[in-house]
Amino acid sequence: MIVIVIGAGLGGLTLARRLRRAGIDVAVYERDGARGRPQGVSLHVDDRGAAALRACLPSAHAAMAEATTGGQREQTLELSDVEGELTVVGTRPSDGVDGRARPGRQVHRPLLREVLLTGLDDVVRFGAEFTRFEQRADGTVRVFFADGSAETADVLVGAEGIGSVVRRQYLPDVRAVDKGRRMIMGATPLRAVAGTGLPALIGDSPAAARVGGTFMALGVLRFTRRPVTARQELLPALNSRAVVDAEDYVMWALPDMRERLGSPASVSQRARDLAADLHPVLRLIVAEAWPDITATLRIGTIPPMPAWSASSVTLLGDAIHLAPGFGGNLAMQDAHRLGEALAAADGGRLDLLSAIGAYEDTMRRTSFTPVAAKASA
Ligand SMILES: Cc1cc2nc3c(=O)[nH]c(=O)nc-3n(C[C@H](O)[C@H](O)[C@H](O)COP(=O)(O)OP(=O)(O)OC[C@H]3O[C@@H](n4cnc5c(N)ncnc54)[C@H](O)[C@@H]3O)c2cc1C
Repeated sequence: MIVIVIGAGLGGLTLARRLRRAGIDVAVYERDGARGRPQGVSLHVDDRGAAALRACLPSAHAAMAEATTGGQREQTLELSDVEGELTVVGTRPSDGVDGRARPGRQVHRPLLREVLLTGLDDVVRFGAEFTRFEQRADGTVRVFFADGSAETADVLVGAEGIGSVVRRQYLPDVRAVDKGRRMIMGATPLRAVAGTGLPALIGDSPAAARVGGTFMALGVLRFTRRPVTARQELLPALNSRAVVDAEDYVMWALPDMRERLGSPASVSQRARDLAADLHPVLRLIVAEAWPDITATLRIGTIPPMPAWSASSVTLLGDAIHLAPGFGGNLAMQDAHRLGEALAAADGGRLDLLSAIGAYEDTMRRTSFTPVAAKASA
C-alpha cells in the first residue's frame, strides 16, 4: 500500500510514524520549506494525544517526548487581584466537560515536532505544495503539486490544517467559518518573573485571571527533565537545535476583537494595552515576552457535517474538525486511529474502504463538538 499524506503538522507526522511502524510505504508532503515553521510554542497534551504518541512513535521517541513534558495539570486556577495581591480565588476541574480541558501535561511544541521528524528524512518532503487530486477508475489517486510534479497513491490523506485543499476539493460544501474573534498569544521566559511569586502560586496548573472586562490565560512549562540531558540519554539522533535553547517559560493569551494588527511590534503593543488594567505581575509577563513569538490568532469553526461515503481520499485533524484548545490532541488521535485502520487493511484483516469508513465514522462521532473552534496563525 502507498499512502500520501499532505501536511507535516502534528496529525500528518503522527500518522507517518504509525504507518512506518507497520511497514507501509508513506510519503508526507509539506508546503513549508526546510524543516518548516516551529508551529507554535506549547501544547496541552491530554490522554488522547499521549496515547497516540505512545502507540505511534518508536519507544525512544515516545520516551523523549514524555521526559520533556511539564508537570501534571488537573485543574484551572482562577486568579484575581485581591488588595494588590495576585491570589487564587477558585478552581475549575480539568474534566473535559462543556469544552473544558482534560487532565494532561504541557509539551514544548517545537521539541515535539523535532521528535516526530527524527528519522523521517526519507519520508517528509518539504517545499512541496499540494494543489489537487484525481481519483482513478482503478481505485488509485493521482496527487498534484504546485511545482508541476505528480505522484500516485492507494490512499490520500488531507492533514493540511484549517485551509485544507484536499477538503475543499473532496467535500466542497464543508466550510471553515471565521468567527471574527482574535487572540494574542505569547511566551515569556520564566526567569523574567522568577522573583514575583507567580511560579510558586500557580505551579503547573493553567490559570485564568479576570479584572473588570480583561481576561488573561496563562500557564508555566517547567521541563520535568532538562531537554539537553534527555536527548543525550534517550534520543541522540534528535536535532540538537531542538534542545539547546529550551528553557522554562510562561505561555499566555489575551482575547482581542481587532480585525488586523499588522507588524509584530504593533501586536506586542496591543498586548501591553490589553494587559494595562491587570495585576503588575501579569503586566510584567506581557512586557517581558519574547517579541518574535507574540502573535495574533484567528478563531474559526467547521460546523459538523453529514456522513459521506468512504473512498481512497480521507482527512484528519484541523482539516476536517476544529476544537478550542485541544485540536492537536484530536489530530493525533485521528492519526492513531487511521494508522491502525490502514495497518489492518494492509495486513488483509479489513478491506481498504471498510477500514477508512470505520475510521471516518468514529472520527465524526467523537471529534465534532457542538461549538468547535480553532486559533490559527
Ligand atoms: C497558539 C495555539 C495554541 C494551541 N494550543 C493547543 C493545545 O494546547 N492543545 C491542543 O490539542 N491543540 C492546541 N492548538 C490546536 C492545534 O495546534 C491544532 O489543532 C493542530 O496543530 C492541528 O494539527 P493538524 O496536523 O491537523 O494541522 P496543522 O498542525 O495545522 O498542520 C498542517 C500542516 O499542513 C501544511 N500545509 C497546509 N497546506 C498545505 C498544502 N497545500 N500542501 C502541503 N502542505 C500544506 C502546513 O504548513 C502545516 O505544516 C493550538 C493552536 C494554536 C494556534
